[in-house]
Amino acid sequence: MICSMISIIGGGIAGLSAALALQRNNIPCKVYERSPVYKPVGAGIWLAPNAMQVFKAFGIQDDIRQVGNELESFGLMTQKVEAISAPDLQVVKNTFGTSTIAIHRARLQDVLFNQLKPGTVVFDSEFETLNEDENGYQLHFSNGLKVNSKYILGADGIHSKIRHHLFPTAQKRYCGQTCWRGISSPQIPSKYTHSGYELWGDEIRFGFSPISKTEVYWFAVAKRPENDIEPKIKYKENLLQLFKDFDPFILELLQNTPQEKINRNNIEDLKPMKEWHKGGVLLIGDAAHATSPNMGQGGCQAIEDAYYLDQLVARFGKIEDVFKQFRSIRYKKVNAIVNQSFTLGKIAHWKRGQGLRNWIMKQAPKKTITKNMLALYKLEKLENLL
Ligand SMILES: Cc1cc2nc3c(=O)[nH]c(=O)nc-3n(C[C@H](O)[C@H](O)[C@H](O)COP(=O)(O)OP(=O)(O)OC[C@H]3O[C@@H](n4cnc5c(N)ncnc54)[C@H](O)[C@@H]3O)c2cc1C
Repeated sequence: MICSMISIIGGGIAGLSAALALQRNNIPCKVYERSPVYKPVGAGIWLAPNAMQVFKAFGIQDDIRQVGNELESFGLMTQKVEAISAPDLQVVKNTFGTSTIAIHRARLQDVLFNQLKPGTVVFDSEFETLNEDENGYQLHFSNGLKVNSKYILGADGIHSKIRHHLFPTAQKRYCGQTCWRGISSPQIPSKYTHSGYELWGDEIRFGFSPISKTEVYWFAVAKRPENDIEPKIKYKENLLQLFKDFDPFILELLQNTPQEKINRNNIEDLKPMKEWHKGGVLLIGDAAHATSPNMGQGGCQAIEDAYYLDQLVARFGKIEDVFKQFRSIRYKKVNAIVNQSFTLGKIAHWKRGQGLRNWIMKQAPKKTITKNMLALYKLEKLENLL
């Protein structure tokens, strides 16, 4: 039996970042992760300037930059790589001192993991269930491990078991789209070295950016029924057919990705919840507010959760008070992102013709796009949120 002040269930981006926030405040915690080791997941992630500002505050911005690739430009393009819209990332960099960093997920996980005191993460421990008594909680894991804990952070992702215990009526929503992801090793033309792109075609889209000098992370999205079945062995062949009218570089990216390194997941989000906290348990990250990936903000919001945990703990000290305040300072921004991202996903796969959709997207004034971006990436001061 292990006794722990705070147990974090799930050692993904949310769990590791939250552990770092607690460690910074000298609050002992353990992270229980179901995987036996961190597997090098075959995907990248874009860390927008809001996430990078958190990492700067946590003193690890340079570690992340060293193993990632800074994006100096981002373009929403047609399938032939003609611009539909290109936000001004220089103004973002001038405002926040950082742009977006594209990084291999495994490298991000390594940086976070290496910041934690040895033994903080307990692997091969899948949370199963919990009991509550006057002293706190007893957590039960599938490997037989039992843990007594006064407080719990549920960071176990969109399919959270902790959430299911606390709020069994919370609803996941299938967004009607599926996403393939991979990492390719092509010759990277210099014009793409520090750029991220999303190409919109006829109800399909493809995004990519280099994550190092030799690797390009890509994702491909198409509408599919929720129960659609596609054998893994067919992913590459089917994607080459689906994207055959896209720019030749897209086909090169697909060709240069080993078949077994392509993953496929349905795109889901979580209908905004009215509560994230009950007793001594608080949900964070995707467990609390999973969003569709259309704005590339799910992970960034999990990292922002850690930032505000750090701030709340420093200010209030008592964990009860931190848990009580947490949702009220986070839900407005997070729910707006969940809703906007859902809508953006629908627009991207609009079936009434690419020309009209692209024309409408082009009409958005640059000033408005910049204003919205700056609002999205700003970390509001805690006192303005309380
Ligand atoms: C296609 C796609 C592209 C995306 N791109 C971006 C992007 O560019 N930028 C961005 O910011 N976000 C992006 N996201 C979103 C981002 O991946 C998620 O928001 C982020 O991973 C959430 O982190 P998390 O730690 O809350 O959950 P997860 O990443 O799901 O981690 C949960 C962890 O908990 C563990 N776990 C689960 N159940 C248990 C259990 N019972 N017991 C113990 N451990 C458990 C899991 O093994 C895992 O390690 C994307 C998402 C998708 C699907």
